[in-house]
Amino acid sequence: MGSMTALRPLDPVALRRDFPLFERDFGGRTLAYLDSAATSLKPRAVIEAVDGYNARYTANVHRGIYTTGEEATAAYEGAREKVARFLNAAESAEIVFVRNATEAINLVAATWGQVNVRAGDRIVLTELEHHANLIPWQLLAQRTGAVLEFIPIDDEGRLDQAAYAALLATAPRLVAFTAVSNALGTIDPVREMTAAAHAAGALVLVDAAQAVPHAFVDVQAWGADFVVFSGHKVLGPTGSGALWARRALLEAMPPFMGGGEMIREVRLRSATWNDVPWKFEAGTPDVAAAIGLGAAVDYLAAIGMENVREHERGLTRYALELLPREVPGIRLFGPRSADERAGIVTFTLPEAHPHDVATLLDRDAIAIRAGHHCTQPLHERLGEPATARASFNVYSTTEDLDRLAAGLRSVQRVFARSA
Ligand code: PMP
Repeated sequence: MGSMTALRPLDPVALRRDFPLFERDFGGRTLAYLDSAATSLKPRAVIEAVDGYNARYTANVHRGIYTTGEEATAAYEGAREKVARFLNAAESAEIVFVRNATEAINLVAATWGQVNVRAGDRIVLTELEHHANLIPWQLLAQRTGAVLEFIPIDDEGRLDQAAYAALLATAPRLVAFTAVSNALGTIDPVREMTAAAHAAGALVLVDAAQAVPHAFVDVQAWGADFVVFSGHKVLGPTGSGALWARRALLEAMPPFMGGGEMIREVRLRSATWNDVPWKFEAGTPDVAAAIGLGAAVDYLAAIGMENVREHERGLTRYALELLPREVPGIRLFGPRSADERAGIVTFTLPEAHPHDVATLLDRDAIAIRAGHHCTQPLHERLGEPATARASFNVYSTTEDLDRLAAGLRSVQRVFARSA
């Protein structure tokens, strides 16, 4: 996490004015939105960027020899430049627009995997993974006969680095892991794990779906081969997301989907492919969403990701102190220190199922996530079928957390009465 700008405290109350959802009335209250790890709220700048395309210069991209067509192409490709700068990619050709992180991982598994993975090859994953970084590899393993291996976690949700070293000694083809756990908030040592994988001859895919929103991601500093994220968790629209990969890798990979845009020359029985990144963008892209994502990363870059990180570290520390003090018996998951985790706090109450907790909190206009958070194997490891999760973004406040603690106390009173 490089630091270019001086750290300054981020003012979430001022930023909330940029998010129209806070103007909505929820029974006399604003919404305490504590589910940003599922999807983030959208600032006006993003909504206006999407509306601007739809209202003033709707056109397909890379085709129109007319004013709006050229404007649409410039905005779409401009958004690619913005995303490239935001991730510190060497060039914008390394950014492939996709619908979301899930699609990006499936793209890599289907294309790079098809060419490079053979029966008996090993793919190393972790016990922390979101299903999005598990199922595509299961499918690839079923198709190819490759073998999946898993880095175990300790009781605080940290990856067992000694076990990882032992797995690397088996010369895997690929290591694919999350930079930040969506269920526990654990931050994994991406740079060190990537260097170790490369030393063992493996390529590395980093699932940055929970890292891009919460910390400064520098793909060159990480040194990985593939990095994926979803725009909708980074204040951007649904339907936006990106795969970053080194140009040489993208060039060597076969196409993902076939159709318009991704071709250079087509004959009835054969075709040649467009340059990267367009080789991987078959069909009309989600132009509006990509333009919205460009506006989102501009918005975050203006705040400064170092400031976002500090803000969320502060909220996490506050939550980790507040909840055990105010909510008797609460069980917290993940690392104890806020320094080791992103803005995600996961818990259970002894008296109530997480779904009941979330349902009762909703009556107080407090939105949290309950369930397995698309990490069923991790929940099996934790010995809990479901947990409750509060997660933050730039607009989250300590007041949201105070409301959460008070809400959890009243859940406990409801269950004490019914016991
Ligand atoms: N990986 C992680 C770590 C995630 O948190 C998520 C979203 N919860 C995904 C992948 C998948 O993101 P999407 O559903 O936007 O493709």
